[in-house]
Amino acid sequence: MKSFIRGIEPLALQQESVRWNRQWMELRQRNSGASFNWYSYNRTPVNQIILPDLKAQTQDHCSYCDGFPPLIGDDTIDHFCPKSDPLFYHLAYTWHNLYVACNHCQRAKLEQFSTLLLRPDDVLYTFDRYFIYNYTDHTICINPVATVEDQQCAAETIRMFEFNHNGKIKQRRDSYELWISKPAQDRYLDDFSYRFIFP
Ligand SMILES: [Zn+2]
Repeated sequence: MKSFIRGIEPLALQQESVRWNRQWMELRQRNSGASFNWYSYNRTPVNQIILPDLKAQTQDHCSYCDGFPPLIGDDTIDHFCPKSDPLFYHLAYTWHNLYVACNHCQRAKLEQFSTLLLRPDDVLYTFDRYFIYNYTDHTICINPVATVEDQQCAAETIRMFEFNHNGKIKQRRDSYELWISKPAQDRYLDDFSYRFIFP
């Protein structure tokens, strides 16, 4: 997971998120099985409006695993605090709760939530604080010199996003081998997946 800086809240959310959050909360309180459909702003579903802003923050990479480029199904919006959880109905349209995520990370996380889960846009988050990268087997490991609490956060984040799933390990190895096969002057970091593995 690569750190990034959260951009400015899109105008549609600045103007309407409070109202939309309340509408979603009231809908679910009336009918806990009601399905989520993005509300529209100027006749356009708001997810379509804010997706470019979310992708710009990560240079089109998945916010969590840093996979790139996005394939079909890889540029959906994840609600960090799940919109299906009554505790978080009020965050369904809140800018800081929304992340662009790939299919792998969405399917791994689903509607789970933990207070230990790390956010890539937390100002105190860096990969090195919580993790180390194993360049031999391409697993993401818990930083052994991190605090106990930080190690718990790292473990929960690896588990929930299945960062060490076989498919992710292979993709990271492929990205690393492509990186080292190229002359330094031909490497453009944002064209690579899993940018946190490169020195
Ligand atoms: Zn991902």
